[in-house]
Amino acid sequence: MTITEPTAESTQPAHQVAAKGGPTFDSLNPRTGDVAGTYPIHSEADVRAAVERAREAARWWSALSYDAREERLSAWKGVITRRIAQLADVVHQETGKPHADARLEAALAIDHLAWAAGHAEKVLRRRRVPAGLVMANQAATVQYLPLGVVGVIGPWNYPVFTPMGSIAYALAAGNAVVFKPSEFSPGVGRWLADTFAEVVEQPVFQVVTGLGDTGAALCRSGVGKLAFTGSTATGKKVMATCAETLTPVVIEAGGKDAVLVDADADLDAAADAALWGACSNAGQTCIGVERVYVHERVYDDFLATLVDQAKDLKADDSPGSKIGPITMPSQLSVISAHIQDAIAKGGRAVLGGPDAVGERFVQPTILVDVPEDSLAVQEETFGPTLTVTRVRDMDEAVEKTNATRYGLGSTVFSKAHGMEIAERIRSGMTAVNGIITFAGIPSLPFGGVGDSGFGRIHGPDGLKEFTYAKAIARQRFKPLLALTSFTRTEKADGQLTQLITMLHGRGSTLPK
Ligand code: NDP
Repeated sequence: MTITEPTAESTQPAHQVAAKGGPTFDSLNPRTGDVAGTYPIHSEADVRAAVERAREAARWWSALSYDAREERLSAWKGVITRRIAQLADVVHQETGKPHADARLEAALAIDHLAWAAGHAEKVLRRRRVPAGLVMANQAATVQYLPLGVVGVIGPWNYPVFTPMGSIAYALAAGNAVVFKPSEFSPGVGRWLADTFAEVVEQPVFQVVTGLGDTGAALCRSGVGKLAFTGSTATGKKVMATCAETLTPVVIEAGGKDAVLVDADADLDAAADAALWGACSNAGQTCIGVERVYVHERVYDDFLATLVDQAKDLKADDSPGSKIGPITMPSQLSVISAHIQDAIAKGGRAVLGGPDAVGERFVQPTILVDVPEDSLAVQEETFGPTLTVTRVRDMDEAVEKTNATRYGLGSTVFSKAHGMEIAERIRSGMTAVNGIITFAGIPSLPFGGVGDSGFGRIHGPDGLKEFTYAKAIARQRFKPLLALTSFTRTEKADGQLTQLITMLHGRGSTLPK
């Protein structure tokens, strides 16, 4: 990371936040180390100014009808879709991931944007709810109103798909958004804000760039909610900073996802899924596969199939390469430490191993006989590595899967018992006989439990996450029992007791 002190006064367009000639930083191409772009480090004052402008814009945006917002978000969707190759190029430059993978994440993000824009009204509009017998004279309604300005802090590993899970749903719910992308992918954030500004006349979606301090400034800026995606450790800092102003947070943090392979599983499909889940995006995926638990009856066959499928897979710089570099150089030592710890504790590498970790690229590594208390089983590795463990049955597989602090995603391969096993796994999402499929289904909520965070993006839950519930009780006629008045009589008290006893009295004794 190169930080440069002030040069010239900046001349950004209105939706970009002026950095007032302040310092800048470079984002680097992790394949070559070349500078991919130079961006301002926005100060606390810059961030506050952006949030102030967003607050203004939010008034206009939230006053539009759902249809008018959908029309504008659809226009943005069209621009992103038509320029998907250009966006993929920025992602490729900044993260090093293959072009095709960059297009895949953009395509999924576009689908989410369409869903959020198209479903916001149905999910959030005012609807009548039963008022109940005691309050029968009231008309009760609930609706979900925008919070104003939502701050989004995103990671670099899926710099389009991941933050868009918050951005698209927050915008569709009627909020303005100020987005702070990772210092490794500021260009992607800038590209998204620039294209949005082409179709929406007000600064409803702005980007601020910088390092951790710029993110912390966004936490302190008085936004209505802060949606954070990143590591668990930073998530804790974000939550602590947001606590200073009682700003609510969504935390989408790390994972240690497992694949469970039952005795009746399609082993070819399970191995293919485990391999892609572990090695795509060079393993830098929050819902990437890092552990596999295999029924002892099929363990040997599964492992042989997995190693056979993996043996020709290489991470390198060649044009058609399926695995790119490790984006964040400091992650290389973490991956190396996990592999070495696994081997020191009695594990074996049946593919790759300590030498698989190079200067920029890490080769696929499959570890077996790794004790459950190893770093490679307990901590997020974030590299193209897998531990494969033999289990007695699926009870043991579930028990071991659940024995981490994380609980983000999971995968089950079983012909007969997929749903049953899935329900027993403590994770926010599970794919059965597929891999990461839940992330591409816009109507499903996305998020974790435990150290993987809380709150949900995607689906109806994701829309509601960026709103507050507004309850209205409207009196339709005078109450038969005037309960909320000093004119309440003893007779009314008696009638209420009778009514409540009639309604609820019978349920009050426990069954013998
Ligand atoms: P980090 O936690 O390092 O950073 C995430 C974001 O937080 C970045 O924009 C970072 O800015 C910012 N940040 C850093 N310090 C602070 C601070 N003190 N206050 C406010 N913001 C701050 O995560 P990575 O970018 O390395 O992303 C990888 C992690 O993200 C993995 O753990 C992965 O599992 C997780 N992740 C989770 C997903 C989910 O949906 N659950 C999806 C994708 C990734 P800067 O980069 O400038 O330091």
